[in-house]
Amino acid sequence: MTDAPAEQFQTLTGMRDVLFPESSRRRALVQLFAEVVESAGYRELSPPLLEHLGVFLRVGETTDVVTKEMYDFTDKDGSRIALRPELTAGVVRAFVQHRPLLPWKVWYSGSNFRHERPQKGRYRSFEQVGVEVLGVDDPDLDVEVIALAWRFYTALGLRQVRLLLNTLGEHSDRERYTDAVRAHFEARAADLSEAGRTTLARNPLRVLDSKRPEDRAVVADAPVVADCLSPGAAAHFERVSAGLDALGIPYTEDPRLVRGLDYYRRTTFEFVADALDAAQNAVGGGGRYDRLAEDMGGPPTDGIGFALGVDRILLACDAEGVFPGPDAACDVFVVDLVGGESARDLTHGLRDAGMSADRRFGGGSMKAQMKAADRSGARIAVLVGPDELEAGEVTLRPLRGHAPTAGSAPADAGGGGGREQRRVRRDDLIDELRNEL
Ligand code: AMP
Repeated sequence: MTDAPAEQFQTLTGMRDVLFPESSRRRALVQLFAEVVESAGYRELSPPLLEHLGVFLRVGETTDVVTKEMYDFTDKDGSRIALRPELTAGVVRAFVQHRPLLPWKVWYSGSNFRHERPQKGRYRSFEQVGVEVLGVDDPDLDVEVIALAWRFYTALGLRQVRLLLNTLGEHSDRERYTDAVRAHFEARAADLSEAGRTTLARNPLRVLDSKRPEDRAVVADAPVVADCLSPGAAAHFERVSAGLDALGIPYTEDPRLVRGLDYYRRTTFEFVADALDAAQNAVGGGGRYDRLAEDMGGPPTDGIGFALGVDRILLACDAEGVFPGPDAACDVFVVDLVGGESARDLTHGLRDAGMSADRRFGGGSMKAQMKAADRSGARIAVLVGPDELEAGEVTLRPLRGHAPTAGSAPADAGGGGGREQRRVRRDDLIDELRNEL
C-alpha cells in the first residue's frame, strides 16, 4: 500500500476545455450560423470525426495539413484511419456514398484536429462552421456562398473583417500559371528562404502564401494568375465580382491568394480579421473545387464551400467588443428555509411551466441561500419561510442587478405590477412570475 497522490492529468498540448460561459457563447455562435445558412436552404450534415486515411489523402497529398499535421493511426483491425483535419473531404465522401439529389447544399459544425505548433488562435483541436454545395456550376452560387459568410460575420457584429478574392482559373490555366510561378521562383531560388525552397520543390503555388520576410520581395514580383486566365474563367470571375458589387459586399482582389490544393479552381476567397494579429488573422476561407467527388469514386461534380474558424472568430469578437454571448442566468432562484420540500417541488413546477429555476442544495442559512441566489444571476428569488408556509404564500424578491432603481418603479406599486418585494399566494406563483419576468 502506498499513499502516493494520484496523477493529476492536464489537457493535451494545444487542446482546451471550453468552460461556461464560453461554452454557451460557442453554442450561440453555431446557432446563429445555422439560422443564417438554413435561411438559404442549407441543411445540416454531421460527418464522423474519423475517416479512412485515404479520404484525406485525396484532398491534399501536397499540403502540410495532410502530410505533417494529421492525427493518423492504425486501427485495431489494421486499417489506416485519421481524425479529420478539415471537413470538406468528409462531406464529399458522404456525397459519393449517399448520392443525394442535386444540388446538395449542406452546412456543418464541429472539431478538427491538426498537430500544429500551438499559439493564440492556433490549436490542435479547433472548431469550424462551414458550408459545401455540390452539383452547381454557376458563378451566382459563388456569390451566394460568399454572401452567407459575410452575413454571418455581420450578424455577429464584426465590422473589421475583410474579404480577399481571387480566381485560380480553369485547370489548364492553373497548370500554365503553376509553370510560370515555378519558373519565376526557380530563377530566384537563391533569394528565397530555406523553407521557401522546400515548399517550391513540393508545391510552387504555396510559396505565394509565404509570410516569411525573406520571401516577400520574390513573391511580390511573381506572375499573377490574371495573365493566364482563359475567357471562360475570366467571365466567371467577372460575374462573381459583379454579384458582390450588386450586393454591396466589399472585397479586395488579391492575386496572391492561392489555396494549396490541386482541386481548387476558379473562385477562391479568404476572410481576414483586422482586429487580430497578422499571423493568425485568417478567420475563414473557401473556394470552388472539382474532381474531388470523382477521386472518391463518384460522378464528376462541381463543388464550392467555405470553412470558418470558430476559435478565431470569437477572438475577433473579443477584440471588437461584440457578440458577448447569451445571458445564461436562471429566471428564478428558490430559497427554502423550511426543510427543502418547497424548493424541491417549486423548482420542478416552475420548470414544468417553462421557466428556468435553480436552488441551493443542503439548505443553509438565509444569508447563504441569498448569496447563492445572487451568484446564480437569477432575476427573482422565491422565498419560503415558516410564515409563508403557514399562509400558503411565498415572497418574491427582485435580486441584485434586477431590483428596481430609484424612480423606475411603477407609480402604483400596489396594483400588483410593482417590483418591490411582495407576498403572493403559492397557487398563483406561476402566473405572478409570468407577469414579472
Ligand atoms: P483551412 O481549413 O486551413 O482553410 O482553415 C479555415 C479556417 O479555420 C481558418 O481561416 C482559421 O480561421 C481556422 N483554423 C485553421 N487551422 C486552425 C487552428 N490550428 N486553430 C484554430 N483555427 C484554425
